[in-house]
Amino acid sequence: MKPSKHKAVLNDTICAISTPFGNGAIAIIRLSGPETFAICNTIFVQNKETIDFNNTLSHTLHYGKLFMEDQVLLDEVVIGIFRNPHSYTGEDIAEISCHGSIYIQEQLMQLLIRKGARAAKPGEFTLRAFLNGKMDLAQAEAVADLIASESSSAHKLAISQVKGGFSKDIRQLRTELLEFSSLLELELDFSEEEVEFANREKLTALLTRIRIKIDYLLASYSFGNVLKRGIPVTIIGKPNVGKSTLLNILLNEDKAIVSEIPGTTRDTIEDKIIINGICFRFIDTAGLRETTDKIETMGVERTYEKINEASIILYMFDLTESNVNDIKNSLQEIKKLSGNEEVKIILIANKIDLLVETPKSFKELSNFDTVYISAKRKENIHLITEKLIKTVKETNMQFDGNIVTNARHYDVLTKSLQEIDETLNGMKQQQSNDLLAINIRSALHYLGEITGDITTEDILDQIFGKFCIGK
Ligand code: GDP
Repeated sequence: MKPSKHKAVLNDTICAISTPFGNGAIAIIRLSGPETFAICNTIFVQNKETIDFNNTLSHTLHYGKLFMEDQVLLDEVVIGIFRNPHSYTGEDIAEISCHGSIYIQEQLMQLLIRKGARAAKPGEFTLRAFLNGKMDLAQAEAVADLIASESSSAHKLAISQVKGGFSKDIRQLRTELLEFSSLLELELDFSEEEVEFANREKLTALLTRIRIKIDYLLASYSFGNVLKRGIPVTIIGKPNVGKSTLLNILLNEDKAIVSEIPGTTRDTIEDKIIINGICFRFIDTAGLRETTDKIETMGVERTYEKINEASIILYMFDLTESNVNDIKNSLQEIKKLSGNEEVKIILIANKIDLLVETPKSFKELSNFDTVYISAKRKENIHLITEKLIKTVKETNMQFDGNIVTNARHYDVLTKSLQEIDETLNGMKQQQSNDLLAINIRSALHYLGEITGDITTEDILDQIFGKFCIGK
């Protein structure tokens, strides 16, 4: 079911600057739609002759001069031609590579608009690709993730979804369920005659299979999201043990710092660093510096939240001022506060520079993952990053199939699971066919929303509105 509003939109020709805003060596301006070649014909001259792009081969490049009205030369450009349906959008596309001056880009855009094109809205090229059946909705969403990916793990996830692995699974299950649904509906038509077209055992087996699949996908979400947004790491410990010093080394001295972004929760700041292609997100370090000044003050709600959010906790202590029992007690406390059985705690024993040798009692900590460092002298910092990587790789083993990273998918999968469960319960209780059919129809509806077999304008606007212009 494709919304009519969007279909009507396909009749016109859109244009956008597809490279990032600003001066660059080159910029690419993209046109898509039925008038693409006609517009290019009127502005482009190759070897002093006009050229008819309606008769050139697809996937060819053309070098020449680009003129505005009154024969004013704007630039020397290369135009790439992609003929429908063999293009990104499925329509006729021209990609004009011009020199990357902002002036040229703006003049060219204005020229194209005067010639009849319209400035594209965010994501409109990809929306057209979806409406023309070049990709399904989950794949289109993965394109946005691909553009946004900052680390190799996020990139790997997005690439696998662009290829469509995830939605293929969902569509397969949906098709099987659809068959049963029509058999059930058929039974409703013959309700007087007590016939059974939909074999109940097979239906239960299918519903159970779908349930397992959805359960797995839902479970993969927190892991997938962690990979996409960065693995949350929190450093905690008593005051003056060296937390800020370590954090500064990890964040500032690492050449791979990518950004300082406003956190997802209220007033927090998150810093991301990429180590070996994996993105780590150090959360609320500023807040924690105030609130964890004493381990006893961990009752502060925000600290709870941060400990809760962390996949990895770096618990830091000062070797010269700690005793093993205190550390063990603190660890127990943290585990309790964390509420996350899976949380990985790495002990960071700091200030080795102040000791000639590690006191014997610390051998008792050998059961824990412990790293001995000097933050001040930047000694053994690599051991921390190695431990971080190792921890992630160990967790990685759990999910080797498709992974859900998108909040919309998570939401819709949760709803379809509820419907599947209701159907299964209903069957156990010998519920009437019309009630079962209602639940199955809802489940089909939600599963269809993932792949885009069922869409509404709201869903499309929400998804494509988040894209950058030109994609
Ligand atoms: P925080 O309160 O846990 O954030 O601790 P800071 O990072 O502010 O460090 C507290 C003090 O310990 C500062 O004076 C640091 O210079 C010092 N310090 C940090 N790491 C080391 C270390 O490895 N060796 C020594 N000797 N001093 C350190």
